[in-house]
Amino acid sequence: MSVETSTGAPRRVHVVGAGPVGLMMTALLQQAPGYDVRLYEKRAAYTRDRMVKLAPYLVADTVDAYRADPLDGDNVEAVFEPWELEEALAFRRRMSPDLRELLATLTEGFVRLNDVEGALSDLVDGGGPSPVTRIPGALTLDDVHARLEPGDLLIDCTGSKSLLRDHLVPEWDPAAGERGNTNSIRMEHAAVATFVFDRRYECNEYCKYYKNLDNARYKFVPSVERTLYDDSASHVTGLIHISEQEYAAMPPACDGEWLRANMPGVARSMDRFIEKVRAETGGELVDDVRVIRIVLDLYRAYRATNRAWLHGPPTDHPFATTSVFLVGDAAIGSPYFQSISLGFECAMFLAGLLTHTECSTDEILERYERLVYQQWLRVYMRTKQIKHNKDLFETIDDTFGLLEKLHIF
Ligand SMILES: Cc1cc2nc3c(=O)[nH]c(=O)nc-3n(C[C@H](O)[C@H](O)[C@H](O)COP(=O)(O)OP(=O)(O)OC[C@H]3O[C@@H](n4cnc5c(N)ncnc54)[C@H](O)[C@@H]3O)c2cc1C
Repeated sequence: MSVETSTGAPRRVHVVGAGPVGLMMTALLQQAPGYDVRLYEKRAAYTRDRMVKLAPYLVADTVDAYRADPLDGDNVEAVFEPWELEEALAFRRRMSPDLRELLATLTEGFVRLNDVEGALSDLVDGGGPSPVTRIPGALTLDDVHARLEPGDLLIDCTGSKSLLRDHLVPEWDPAAGERGNTNSIRMEHAAVATFVFDRRYECNEYCKYYKNLDNARYKFVPSVERTLYDDSASHVTGLIHISEQEYAAMPPACDGEWLRANMPGVARSMDRFIEKVRAETGGELVDDVRVIRIVLDLYRAYRATNRAWLHGPPTDHPFATTSVFLVGDAAIGSPYFQSISLGFECAMFLAGLLTHTECSTDEILERYERLVYQQWLRVYMRTKQIKHNKDLFETIDDTFGLLEKLHIF
């Protein structure tokens, strides 16, 4: 795609949503000359302070490093062709040094989501070859239509409740069935408990097992990599699988006291785990436990671009003369702490296609659809495996319960 339009003017790009992925997309496009980026965001400030983990594969320099995660390596090899992996690595090698450095820092450990957003936002504000104009306020579908001009690029980074996902499928597209453009699989309901311990605490699979020995009904499952060693403090986030009814009975967020008073079984599993960490390290909780309830869904957009509009019957709909892409949670959502990395991965690939290739618009749309489908297969397999492992872990000392979940052939 030629960056400049037929009139020689910079190509207008509308990035809707300045969460982590929209900011990453903007930072990447800003580094290439010839774009005029408009970044829309409805939130006035970055206040989400939950701790998140970014995957080390985001800064991998080699295919081997990219495939290092034991739950991911074979899937990556099965889904991508070798030249596709090389091309994706080549795209990221061409990122600006500032952005590469920032990514390296963010992937080192466990970071606050608003720190990720703040750091990317600062980088965008630092400027680059292409100008970025920030436009505050919530964009509606009508606003989008009104702002689009033929040839514009529109990148929807509005997250899981995507503004455009279900509008990318025109009536004549077979994907426009009852499910619209979204394919969603419910994995589980969970209480997510987060606490900070004033000692260094290391976690692995043996530790998860041992610390849950007395938890017959509910298990507190911390992710191995979700502990942050911040000098002597460890930030721990763990999931407790709960039923749909228990989920409905919980407030969206609560503290340890509420949980102990209202869901004693769930609270006990967490407290026993904490007690064992305390006994092992001699440390203490820095603050009260924070708990939120969460539905873990794995979903994707059947169509991650507006290709169907471009190849359908003639129409004056704005999606018939522009290029529209879903990136981040707008395109794919995955539980178990994988989503931001997946979104960054898609953003880096799309920016690479737009700025480092001579592909036509059609080719870019087709290649991006393919990439999103490949990333979906990858995350689908990894997520199913995580869930299966979790299910087995929850019945690990109940031989018959375990056998029921095995289904070997
Ligand atoms: C408890 C918890 C822990 C998590 N931990 C991790 C983790 O460890 N690792 C990980 O990878 N992921 C984690 N996630 C998921 C992660 O937070 C999301 O995947 C990520 O925020 C998605 O980024 P995004 O930019 O695609 O969307 P969002 O973060 O949802 O950003 C979308 C942005 O678009 C804006 N917006 C939406 N609609 C409009 C509109 N109409 N007009 C203008 N602006 C709009 C929103 O205000 C927002 O800023 C966690 C989630 C939860 C709930």
